[in-house]
Amino acid sequence: MSDLIKKTELSDSKDCPCASAQPILKRLITREAKIGEDLTIRRALPHQERRMIGAWCFFDHFGPLNLKASGLNIAPHPHMGLQTFTWTLHGEILHRDSLGSEQVIKPGQVNLMNSGAGISHSEESLPDSILHGVQLWIALPDSKRFMDPDFNHYATVPYVLHDHLFIHILAGEFLGQQSPAKIYSPLMGLEIYAQEDTESVLPLNPKFEYGILPLVGEIEVEGELIDLTTLLYLGCGRKELNIKLKKGARILVIGGEPFQEEILIWWNFVARSEDELIKAVDDWNNHTRFGEVHGYQGEPLTAPQMKR
Ligand code: MN
Repeated sequence: MSDLIKKTELSDSKDCPCASAQPILKRLITREAKIGEDLTIRRALPHQERRMIGAWCFFDHFGPLNLKASGLNIAPHPHMGLQTFTWTLHGEILHRDSLGSEQVIKPGQVNLMNSGAGISHSEESLPDSILHGVQLWIALPDSKRFMDPDFNHYATVPYVLHDHLFIHILAGEFLGQQSPAKIYSPLMGLEIYAQEDTESVLPLNPKFEYGILPLVGEIEVEGELIDLTTLLYLGCGRKELNIKLKKGARILVIGGEPFQEEILIWWNFVARSEDELIKAVDDWNNHTRFGEVHGYQGEPLTAPQMKR
């Protein structure tokens, strides 16, 4: 994905409330954003009141989109200082990047692209009736953010059955199962599908802060009803969580140790200073860095200038 919101804003991870050390239930209303020509998605992170959850620093929920009306077509654009994490519920997306990777992602699979110091990629939906999924970004810690870029496709991820919940472990560990996704800070990500109406208790890590976003249907968390427009922030300090899902509901759970480094996000770049971001914008627009995506039909995106 690429941030194509008309009015790009600088997001500073320290200009919002700190990670809550205590359990809380904070509703964060996701906002509509445009990607590509006319695709409306819902952006959960960064949010004015919550820039990150662990190292997760960006969270888009796209679809369900009827591709007869429009398709996803995101022209080549750069990234730095982050990993992009893609998971779909329906539909297929073709990824191409400046390392020469060309990979279709299908439901149940993970595409994990590590930008390291710099990479560029394109993303296009393939013909299908429905496209539905999420893309998240994971901020790289300072010690890793200048590493060489790489791309990994995971054709399967582990799952567990817990009560009547079918739980894919997307990142980190849960109930003894470990995701193969290569990440660089203490994190977790789950997609939970209710096979029946289910009330359940999820074990959590008290050192992690967590957030939950419904992808299909509604969910009750600790007795609070949460709909598709809302990311529920849970804070740290929980050993378990009471959830209630109707049959067919699906949710995404993300968590991690609060990320201590201050990060700045401009457009598709994660950095630590405005100078770094300004240089990245110039380097991309002047074609002096971030490589080239071969095979994509069309012009690359232009990076918006940053005002100091
Ligand atoms: Mn992207």
